[in-house]
Amino acid sequence: MAKIGIVRDERYLLHDMGYHPESPDRLRVIYESLGENEMKGLFVEVPPRAATKEEIETVHDTSYIHRVAETAGKPHVRLDPDTSTCPESYEAAIWAVGGLLEAIDAVVGADIDGSFALVRPPGHHAEKARAMGFCLFNNIAIGARHAQKRHGFDRILIVDWDLHHGNGTQNAFYDEKEVLYFSAHQYPFYPGTGTANEIGQGAGEGYTVNAPLNTGCGDSEYANIFSRVLKPIALTYQPQLILVSAGFDIHYKDPLGGMKVTANGFARLMNILKDIAQSTCSGRIVLTLEGGYDLTALRESVRSVLLEMKADDGWVDLQKYLDQENSDYKTIERVIEKIQEIQGRYWSCF
Ligand SMILES: [Zn+2]
Repeated sequence: MAKIGIVRDERYLLHDMGYHPESPDRLRVIYESLGENEMKGLFVEVPPRAATKEEIETVHDTSYIHRVAETAGKPHVRLDPDTSTCPESYEAAIWAVGGLLEAIDAVVGADIDGSFALVRPPGHHAEKARAMGFCLFNNIAIGARHAQKRHGFDRILIVDWDLHHGNGTQNAFYDEKEVLYFSAHQYPFYPGTGTANEIGQGAGEGYTVNAPLNTGCGDSEYANIFSRVLKPIALTYQPQLILVSAGFDIHYKDPLGGMKVTANGFARLMNILKDIAQSTCSGRIVLTLEGGYDLTALRESVRSVLLEMKADDGWVDLQKYLDQENSDYKTIERVIEKIQEIQGRYWSCF
């Protein structure tokens, strides 16, 4: 069985925005499930650390980092209409970044096959100089910069399956080809970015891939997008590391989203990513938690993904999924053809 690392820490529960869907309970239910029989002892604990200012500066302005740092110890500071801090938020945020960096180092340097940073606050909306959409620092963007600097990678794939478009991550790498950003997301929706025509610019043209989706997409639609858009591009790109913005707000029970993915559907997406990782980068894949606001759905979906990461033969009944995806293909065919047409200018696989 694969050796899978997890990052968890009580500090991540300290960030509390009051009555808010991005609550400490999200991680509380996930951490609880890790202690259950089926999960107990299956995963290797990767100890987190605080990220340094220099590490965070690879993505964020120094003045913005100071602004967040100044919230430490203060009762409540609003940084964005839906993002605020409590006295411990800064500490949680630098440890969230550091937790992901350790999860990356464990997979690249040690003998861990894959890892999942179960951290908060999330990060993919955070911009260079501002907090946004429940995010303080862009964990995954800093993670990619770290993998470049520390491990010398020049082809990193970021896959973002969160309900929302990861505007901050896209912008961090929009004009470079060393990081390929792929996002499937509900559109039009918050934050408003992520059309199929946003494809990167300059040297990065063709290295941003967006799949904007109508509401109602479920397991088959997502798996078809992953198999028929993401996979051919990824196999051509040949990433040395895959990072995943794992948001669970595309679950059918999620109060913020309009998608219909099931807990097993997340395992199927993970299964496709594992397949890509095994044929391109010795299986190196690192997930970090983004959204997901129904506690039961979040707990079940994270469990499903972790068990799929762990299982050598896969945890889901693959043939059943493939048959269903083929018969449901027509529901997403036009979207896929449109993206293939746009991306076909850069990717010979289409
Ligand atoms: Zn989200």
